[in-house]
Amino acid sequence: MSAPHLDHRFADAFPELVHAARGEPQPDPRLILLNETLARELGLDPGWLRSPEGVTFLLGRGGGRTVAMGYAGHQFGQLSPRLGDGRALLLGELTDTAGRVRDLHTKGTGPTAFSRGGDGRGALGPMLREYLVSEAMHALGVPTTRALAVVSTGRKIQRGGVVPGAALVRTAASHLRIGTVQYARLIGDEDLVDRLCTYARERHHPALDTHEAFFRAVMHAQAETIAKWMRLGFIHGVMNTDNTTLSGETIDYGPCAFLDRFDPATFFSSIDTHGRYAFRNQPAILGWNLARLAEAMVPLFDADENAAVEKAQAAMDDFPGVWEKAQERELARALGTSDADLGRRWLELLEERAPDLTSTHRLLADSPTALAEVVGREWVADWQALSPDTAALDRLHPRYIPRNHLLQAALTDAEAGDLVPYLQLLAAVTDPYTDHGPELRRPAPEGFDEMFRTFCGT
Ligand code: AMP
Ligand code: MG
Repeated sequence: MSAPHLDHRFADAFPELVHAARGEPQPDPRLILLNETLARELGLDPGWLRSPEGVTFLLGRGGGRTVAMGYAGHQFGQLSPRLGDGRALLLGELTDTAGRVRDLHTKGTGPTAFSRGGDGRGALGPMLREYLVSEAMHALGVPTTRALAVVSTGRKIQRGGVVPGAALVRTAASHLRIGTVQYARLIGDEDLVDRLCTYARERHHPALDTHEAFFRAVMHAQAETIAKWMRLGFIHGVMNTDNTTLSGETIDYGPCAFLDRFDPATFFSSIDTHGRYAFRNQPAILGWNLARLAEAMVPLFDADENAAVEKAQAAMDDFPGVWEKAQERELARALGTSDADLGRRWLELLEERAPDLTSTHRLLADSPTALAEVVGREWVADWQALSPDTAALDRLHPRYIPRNHLLQAALTDAEAGDLVPYLQLLAAVTDPYTDHGPELRRPAPEGFDEMFRTFCGT
């Protein structure tokens, strides 16, 4: 048993974009959760990760080269030129057993050069929340960062009241964000942005050979991901450019939540007072964020300034079509048939009747008779006439998602020291197509979601 070998290619290549930092000393570190399956996929030894040396490593105090990554970001439309990892560290990169390069990253380990007055810490509830929701998203087939571990620190931290402190260790295809490119543009010269975008392209799309092709690949990957969010009723809640990855993976599960009733105007985040990041706005916000990426990258598109702007404009002009195609594909998958008129009527019926989205989707696989009660006999008859592939639907429409009321209750118990309800919910949402009983698929009681709020920076 020994410490894993990590690479530090990003930190070595981009000293301008990182600050050396290590985890702060912790009074009483304890491993609360370890994702053993993921550990093995990463080629890490779960036994070693559980050892005192392993836990020290997960908290960014193992003595390896750890850094906080810099990034900027448009937050709710306003540019913050210097955000960065204010409470997180890049432990390094590793190559998993499938040969893919993954970042290993830990969040909640103490202040860094980017903390801007924050305490650099994480609270146990929100770290457990990110672990569960990101692993649920992975099980649902959505590109996402993944959760390797939650370690409680033994600290009591201030979050309104006093709550237990913890760190979340996660992996990602990379932690490069639109905000990373914006940051390079703000602090560096043309060469830095060029090198960063070349690095990102070689890491995520090695077959591509131009910056413009890479930009379009980011657009496609993000559109595919958000089309999946929209099918599942996922609301990210804080789609700032610093929370939009270049890889297309979903990142940062602070104020996210799933909607129950299909009301496209739904948003839960307590700081999103105008509903900028409401469910239905997510595709348009992606377009807005991509425009910020295009602005940061534009000089790379062509040596000639006018030609570069034209290429950026042409790529952005393609976005509505790219989005529409991604959405159509997801809708066709959801219904097991690609009839455009039927799909349009399905969306209209969902909006009009606002049923529970997850259980309604499930009826497509399970019970056309019960479905007819929700969306009407006519639509169901027209759908069945097209011989939909209902076998495929069985592995597409989850029985279990992290419903707000269940997750909230499980986290309250976990913070009080009882992990059992949390672990039961985790088991169901990470194996979402199998029957785990009716209790964990119950929609929220009347009125719960209307009052439910989520929080950032927790
Ligand atoms: P987020 O809302 O988690 O995407 O975070 C936005 C920015 O705030 C990032 O730069 C974070 O590193 C920073 N941040 C969030 N919470 C804290 C904290 N407790 N201490 C320091 N920085 C934080
Ligand atoms: Mg963030």
